[in-house]
Amino acid sequence: MRVLVLNCGSSSVKFRLFRMEDEQLLASGIAERIGSPEAALVYRVPGRDGHRQKVRADDHKQAINLVLDQLSDPDHGVVKDIHEIDAIGHRVVHGGETFTEPVLINEAVLSKIKECRRFAPLHNPPNISGIEASLFLIPFARQVAVFDTAFHQSMKPEAFVYALPYEWYDKRRIRRYGFHGTSHHYVSLKAAQVLGKPIEDLRIITCHLGNGASVCAVKGGKSVDTSMGFTPVEGLVMGTRCGDVDVSVPLHVMEEDGLAPAQIDDILNKRSGLFGITGGDNDLRTIEDKAASGSHRHRLALAIFTRKVKKYIGAYAAILGGIDCLVFTAGIGENSPTVRRMVCEGLEFLGIRIDEAANGESREQIGRGEAAVLVIPTDEELAIAEEVASVLGEEGKTDEPVETPAADIRTKRILAIDDDPDIHEYLAAVLGQAGYACFHANTMRQGIKMVSEVRPDLIILDVMMEDISAGFRFAKEVRSAEAGGTAKPVPILMVSGVEQVTDLTFHDRVGTGTMPVDGFLEKPVEPDVLLKKVSEMIG
Ligand code: ADP
Repeated sequence: MRVLVLNCGSSSVKFRLFRMEDEQLLASGIAERIGSPEAALVYRVPGRDGHRQKVRADDHKQAINLVLDQLSDPDHGVVKDIHEIDAIGHRVVHGGETFTEPVLINEAVLSKIKECRRFAPLHNPPNISGIEASLFLIPFARQVAVFDTAFHQSMKPEAFVYALPYEWYDKRRIRRYGFHGTSHHYVSLKAAQVLGKPIEDLRIITCHLGNGASVCAVKGGKSVDTSMGFTPVEGLVMGTRCGDVDVSVPLHVMEEDGLAPAQIDDILNKRSGLFGITGGDNDLRTIEDKAASGSHRHRLALAIFTRKVKKYIGAYAAILGGIDCLVFTAGIGENSPTVRRMVCEGLEFLGIRIDEAANGESREQIGRGEAAVLVIPTDEELAIAEEVASVLGEEGKTDEPVETPAADIRTKRILAIDDDPDIHEYLAAVLGQAGYACFHANTMRQGIKMVSEVRPDLIILDVMMEDISAGFRFAKEVRSAEAGGTAKPVPILMVSGVEQVTDLTFHDRVGTGTMPVDGFLEKPVEPDVLLKKVSEMIG
């Protein structure tokens, strides 16, 4: 099984293609700066030289299309045909209370993901664009949504309800959700494997310390508490996020400086944390370097950062009733012996004792006390791919029919072939409003090429142009191109005002013939007549 993992941000699409039988990474990369003239695609295949090229990508759909082109490119692709991609795993940031595990995407699921947009107005919309683009471009692959919040849905109300008016939770679902769930889940499972113990028996605290950072208390394999909340801004001090603060502080500054909610939100998320304390540095390597050369503010940032992690470990050890294993992961957790040492200093009373040499080399096991201390690289994309495989694996085992397959909810595509821009505009407006995606070819030759690119559900052929025999040849060519393949024939709807055409029989200077098309409308075509006919032909 080949699983493509897509992680769509506001202006980027990160991708990784895995072969799941041996969890081999086949290709990876990122389309970045989508929507800007600097849009670029970075593409890497393990063991070969990667490359970066400038591309035109106005939106997520174009970017994903470019990714698919690369993956199936005859020279540097890794699949012969994109049909070899069996499934797509979409990272979705917020699943609200609806999603407690990864799910196969169908129409109902997609609309529920859209409902969760209000919880993550910056993050969910690009995730949704990625899903819609994939349903459109790769309708044959199964699509699975994997949520950052889902793992934490096992938290009990005492862990997730804020001490705010209860109606805010009851009516508006304002509560703690937690994030980084895929990573906390993945590293806690790996920790159990490393220790060779059943996860059901373990009390694990996982510290995901990257630019974004959170801690999670995992009991018996389930999240019982985590440091991020309604949004990722709660909890630890992060690269640019403030983490826990007295909520009166932002209110006070808003009042004094006359700031709008969006402005204070920007400060709390993008200009606070390590960046805020140091006055401009959020990369921990720089902070460590400057702290070592004596900068007070950088030393302070490091001390505040590590103290907060320590506080959460203490709190979660109390919640768990002890700790069997402490896990460090993500950019800082995996790579900074200094941070790990500072976090663990003074935690000997919990059985946490660091082996300096092992810590210095970032070995997998760095503890020498009663509690294991592990460094486990997180791999969120592989974790998503594993989740996808397990969703599809389980589904394969049941006799239940698969819910609405993704293909049913993709937008139906119509390729219109006409040389008149006004007619195209008219078709695009009428069909677009009814929810169809409309593509346009100016000439029959271009039309033939676009049939294989667009893979339309219907072709509308306006035979007003050139002469009628060109239309005939076009329809014949589409049919004969299809004859060799396995795809089902694309219905062709002919519209014509050419007098010689009566129904599907035509007469022109080369003689009389019958159009090999499936429907006919005489021009001018009224919108309701057109929509009725299209819906009869393709639904
Ligand atoms: P995110 O995915 O949240 O953007 P990462 O998990 O990639 O973040 O972590 C980024 C952080 O990891 C940065 O602060 C970076 O400085 C830190 N980091 C990466 N390598 C090292 C290292 N060798 N030593 C210390 N910190 C490191």
